[in-house]
Amino acid sequence: MKILVINCGSSSLKYQLFNMQNEEVLAKGLVERIGLEEGKIIHQPQGMDKITIGKNIPNHDAAISLVFSQLTHQEYPVINSLNEINAIGHRVVHGGTKFTASVLIDDEVKKSIEELFELAPLHNPPNLLGIKSCEKIAPNVPQVAVFDTAFHQTMPEYAYVYGIPYEDYEQFGVRKYGFHGTSHRYVSERAAEMLGQEATRLKLITCHLGNGGSITAVASGQSIETSMGLTPLEGLIMGTRCGDIDPAVIPFLMEKKSMSIKEINDYLNKKSGVLGISGVSSDFRDVEEAALAGNKRAQLALDMFTHRVKRYIGAYMAVLNGADAIVFTAGLGENSPETREQVCADMEQLGIKLDLESNKVRGKEKIISTVDSKVKVMLIPTNEELMIARDTEKIVYK
Ligand code: ADP
Repeated sequence: MKILVINCGSSSLKYQLFNMQNEEVLAKGLVERIGLEEGKIIHQPQGMDKITIGKNIPNHDAAISLVFSQLTHQEYPVINSLNEINAIGHRVVHGGTKFTASVLIDDEVKKSIEELFELAPLHNPPNLLGIKSCEKIAPNVPQVAVFDTAFHQTMPEYAYVYGIPYEDYEQFGVRKYGFHGTSHRYVSERAAEMLGQEATRLKLITCHLGNGGSITAVASGQSIETSMGLTPLEGLIMGTRCGDIDPAVIPFLMEKKSMSIKEINDYLNKKSGVLGISGVSSDFRDVEEAALAGNKRAQLALDMFTHRVKRYIGAYMAVLNGADAIVFTAGLGENSPETREQVCADMEQLGIKLDLESNKVRGKEKIISTVDSKVKVMLIPTNEELMIARDTEKIVYK
């Protein structure tokens, strides 16, 4: 069984082809600058060096065609024909309240994804374009949608309704949805396996710390609270997003700086966070480097980031009445021992004791707390693509 996983953005597209017998990645790659000048594909068949091809890629149909032609390329064939692809799994960012799990794509599902454009204007439109392009080029291959929001649909109403008039939740769907659900689900399942326990017996706090970041409280394998909201802007301080702020800041700044709605949106989503505070970069590696060199604002940005992560962990320990484990994942969670150390510092009273030696690790599954730590601290590299491939296989063939 071979499953292609597609993560389609507005100008880029990531893909991985899995052999589900052993869950091996047969090929993976990235198409960049779709619809722009100087497009390119970086394609990597298993066990080979990356192949980069520059090409004009006018639209998503052309991008998908290019992926298929690379997978069946005569010089380095991964598959001999498209018929070998049994199913395609798509990452779709917003599933609203309609999708509580992954689904087989039909006309009804596409219509629903389109109805949710309003809630995810940057993500759902290109996600749908990717689905439609695949349908055109491989019309007989079943396709599955895997939603970032679906895992969080188990949150109780008191956790997802905002403190604004209830009618606006009812009329416009203004509520917390949460994102990164596929990642939180993957690492929470892996955590249960690593601990040798049933997920239904565990209380976990999963910290997805990448360029975008979110934290989720998982009880009995279900998300009961998460830090992102109606959009990914709520919660942690991120690479370029402000995270939680007093909502009154928004009209205040709009008035002071004569900002339009689009301008304030860009300001909060693209110019704030670690980039806005440090003035250095949105990439945590650059900010860590600047802080080490004595840049005070870079240090402040890192301190604010870890303080916010700590606050969420504390809040979720209260919500869960204690936790069995805290899991770190994504770019920063997997690769920055310093971040994990600062987040876990001075939390012995909560039963959290990081083992500083074990913590000297990057990108590998490992328990990094001391033996006597009541709450285990774990590093689990996320694998959203594999989760999408597994869901796709399950839905199409079981
Ligand atoms: P995205 O949210 O874009 O998927 P990733 O999960 O890939 O992001 O995480 C990207 C972030 O992880 C970047 O800000 C990067 O600086 C950070 N990161 C990656 N490796 C390291 C490292 N070795 N040390 C510190 N930060 C790192």
